[in-house]
Amino acid sequence: MLYKKYGKTGKDISIIGFGGMRFQKDGEEYDLEKCAQMVTRAYELGINYFDTAPGYCGGKSEEIFGIAFKQIPGKFYVSTKSSARTGDKLREDLERSLKRMGVEKIDFFHIWCVLTMEDYRKRLVKGGPYEAALKAKEEGLVEHITISTHCNGEEIETIVKEGLFEGITLGYNILNFPYRRSGLKAAFDNGMGVATMNPLGGGVIPQNAEYLKFMINEEDQSIVESAIKFNASHKEITTVLTGMSSLRDVEENAAVGNKISPFTEEKLKEIENKLSASMNELCTGCRYCEKCPQGVSIPKFMLAYNESLIRKDKTATMNALKWTYGLSPKEANECIACGACEKKCTQHLNIIERLKEIYSWSN
Ligand code: SF4
Ligand code: SF4
Repeated sequence: MLYKKYGKTGKDISIIGFGGMRFQKDGEEYDLEKCAQMVTRAYELGINYFDTAPGYCGGKSEEIFGIAFKQIPGKFYVSTKSSARTGDKLREDLERSLKRMGVEKIDFFHIWCVLTMEDYRKRLVKGGPYEAALKAKEEGLVEHITISTHCNGEEIETIVKEGLFEGITLGYNILNFPYRRSGLKAAFDNGMGVATMNPLGGGVIPQNAEYLKFMINEEDQSIVESAIKFNASHKEITTVLTGMSSLRDVEENAAVGNKISPFTEEKLKEIENKLSASMNELCTGCRYCEKCPQGVSIPKFMLAYNESLIRKDKTATMNALKWTYGLSPKEANECIACGACEKKCTQHLNIIERLKEIYSWSN
């Protein structure tokens, strides 16, 4: 297993991190002991960074880690999060996480799921969540304050420059890397640790293995391995969080940590070029098209539209809208065809036509 320094903290972190959001139920319930065995096995295979959040797996993820941590004999690092909008709520979240996991402190405590710069500013207000995290750090309950964000590259650069965090967790993968890369570089250059989540693009990458076969190296077993390696091969990335659902996932993902070789800038450019050529029909979720004047959630609609392109069935889009994105197809009719989004779309998609089509499917 390759280990890298987490920014200026000096901590050696495994290149593969355990993402604790994909434990599976056995029937109606989680088998907590069985899930905990996946965590202990990951530790045996060299993984030492365990990432969870209070809401993962209906709150059971932290409990599973708690069971496993009692059995782990050596040093490991715990990452959890709070999306609280007030200082009191953050404190409540932190105390519950400590209790559930049976640990005395959280190594990497994330101000979680910062969606926009406005949201970021709100977390920093006097008496707010960030101040509460600082206080917890002074008390020794938190080792490092970190941030998890869905902001774009430029926004991340601003956050990095303000210097309030020791590390950052962000979604980064083959499909969206051009969009976030400047933020990733800024974080690395400023001595922050970088954890990346969602290396499989929410499932879009394995579902498009055929489109992406140019990514698969000869020695790789699958596109999943190639996608994890893609993140792990960036010098800026400290650890790649991979969601694990079975012991087999643990074995396979940990094995990738033994096969990393860095990418050059040229190789990244080549991938970017091939990507736009190969995925020209699909939305990559880059979110350049956001800020529709009518408030249409364009990336969500377009990602849902991907589903019908991949599966050749419009019900796949309708199901994704309902169950994944919580949107009504009728909202697509809010579009007034101003064209602003199409000008910004990195994939040059015919967004207006696609929205019309989605709306027509609802009638
Ligand atoms: S074309 Fe439609 S979806 Fe795109 S920005 Fe204008 S109103 Fe929004
Ligand atoms: S519609 Fe275009 S700009 Fe918007 S998220 Fe998808 S690829 Fe990016």
